[in-house]
Amino acid sequence: MLPETAPVRACGLVYPARALTEPLCFLNVKGKRKNMPIEISEKTIKHEFIEKVSQLSGQDIFKCFQCGTCGGACPMSGQMETLPRRIMRMAQLGMEENVSGSETSFTCASCHTCSANCPRGIDLARVMEAVRLLTLRKNVNKINPSKVPAETVRELPQIALVSCFRKLTS
Ligand code: SF4
Ligand code: SF4
Repeated sequence: MLPETAPVRACGLVYPARALTEPLCFLNVKGKRKNMPIEISEKTIKHEFIEKVSQLSGQDIFKCFQCGTCGGACPMSGQMETLPRRIMRMAQLGMEENVSGSETSFTCASCHTCSANCPRGIDLARVMEAVRLLTLRKNVNKINPSKVPAETVRELPQIALVSCFRKLTS
């Protein structure tokens, strides 16, 4: 159990400290599920990040109530290091480094299954896209096109290569 801290404000809402800290003690780090105590305070919440994710996605990320339906429906969740609902929670808390540092938005296949099933009507696929774009804008490249094997380039349809480069390079 993390120590009690003062209530935290984010986007005009006041969160009791315990409600903030407890669900976030179990983040996946580099494919390993492990307990990870996280400090959440006014200092750690990046309000600008919350606004950018909301603006780019067009979604009210605070509508998410952590039901987990998205992860249960997601065909890629088995490959994700952090479940979609945790990305939502971290986005709500302005945890920019944790969200951007996660591979989850790059593993997302943009299939919209989560969006179709979310009981709160959140288009999570758009949130994933927003997170991905914000990460790429930091000049992050997930693949180096010049290092893709020639055999792969020959075998894959061009449209697949182009969409892969668009998704994974800045
Ligand atoms: S299904 Fe919707 S409300 Fe439930 S955790 Fe996912 S985004 Fe949040
Ligand atoms: S859009 Fe992404 S997060 Fe949502 S169900 Fe599909 S793969 Fe999973």
